[in-house]
Amino acid sequence: MRIANVQGRLVLRTADNALDVETESDGRFSSDPQAVYDRWEEFQSWASSADLSAAAPFDTQDLGAPVPRPRQIFAIGLNYSEHANESNMAAPAEPSVFTKFQTSITGPYAEVSLPTQTVDWEAELVVVVGKRATGVSQADAWEHIAGVTVGQDLSERTRQLVAPVPQFSIGKSFPGFAPMGPDLVTVDELNSRDDMEIGCSINGETVQKGRTRDLIFSVPVLIERLSAILTLLPGDVIFTGTPSGVGHARRPQRYLAPGDTLDTWIRGVGELRNTFVDGTRHRTVSA
Ligand code: ZN
Repeated sequence: MRIANVQGRLVLRTADNALDVETESDGRFSSDPQAVYDRWEEFQSWASSADLSAAAPFDTQDLGAPVPRPRQIFAIGLNYSEHANESNMAAPAEPSVFTKFQTSITGPYAEVSLPTQTVDWEAELVVVVGKRATGVSQADAWEHIAGVTVGQDLSERTRQLVAPVPQFSIGKSFPGFAPMGPDLVTVDELNSRDDMEIGCSINGETVQKGRTRDLIFSVPVLIERLSAILTLLPGDVIFTGTPSGVGHARRPQRYLAPGDTLDTWIRGVGELRNTFVDGTRHRTVSA
C-alpha cells in the first residue's frame, strides 16, 4: 500500500491516481495525513479492502510530505562507513542522534530557499513508526514500522559544524530542509527492505549512490537502540543517515546553488525533485 498527502489530505495511491480517504471511508478516517498513524492497524485493515475504482488523477505539485507533523523526528549521523571516512570522523560505536525540527518539513517537489552558500545534500531512507515502541528487539522492529519514504537531510554546513559545540539540529532545520515523499510505502511492498539503492543527482549529475545494506546501524538496530532509551510514537520519523558523496567532503567543496534541481531516489520507493532559490537576502546566518 502507498499513501500520500495531496493538498493536505490523506489519499491512497494507485499507480497514477489518488483516492481521498475521508470521502471513501465516509468519514471514518480523518483527512489529516498525520492522524492516520495513530490508528495504523485499523487503517491498514480498511485500506486492504478499499475499492480503488474511484481513484482520480491529481497534480504531483500538490503533494505534501506524507508525514507532515511527526511528534518526534530522529536523524542519524555518520551511519555509512564511507560517509564517516569522507567526513574524517570515526564510525560511531552507538548511533549518533540529532533532530530536525518539525518546521523544516516540506513536500517532495518543493522549492527550497538557500539561506547561505554552504547548503549540502544528504539522500536518506526515512522510516515512519506505525506502533508505539519501547524496549523493542531487533527481531520485532519492522513490525513497529508503518513504512518508508524518501528524504533529504539538507544541511547548512557552516552552522552545523560551528565551534565549540557543533549544531547539527539547528543547522539542518531551516525552512524546507526536510523534504519527504512522495509516498509512504508500506514494508510489505518492498522487495528487499534491508537492501535498497539510494542516491541523488544535481541537474542530472549523480552525486550520491549507495545501498541501504551498508548502514552501520540497520533499521532494526536503530529501532532497538532508540526504543531502549525513549518511546517511539506512531507517526515519528527516523532519517537513517546518508551514504558518501556529500558536497562538503569534495575537493573542491561543492554546495547547492540557486537554480539547481536535486533529484533524490530510493529504488522501489520513490523520487523527490527539489529546486532551489537564493534566500541569502532574507536571513543572516553567522558562523
Ligand atoms: Zn543526514
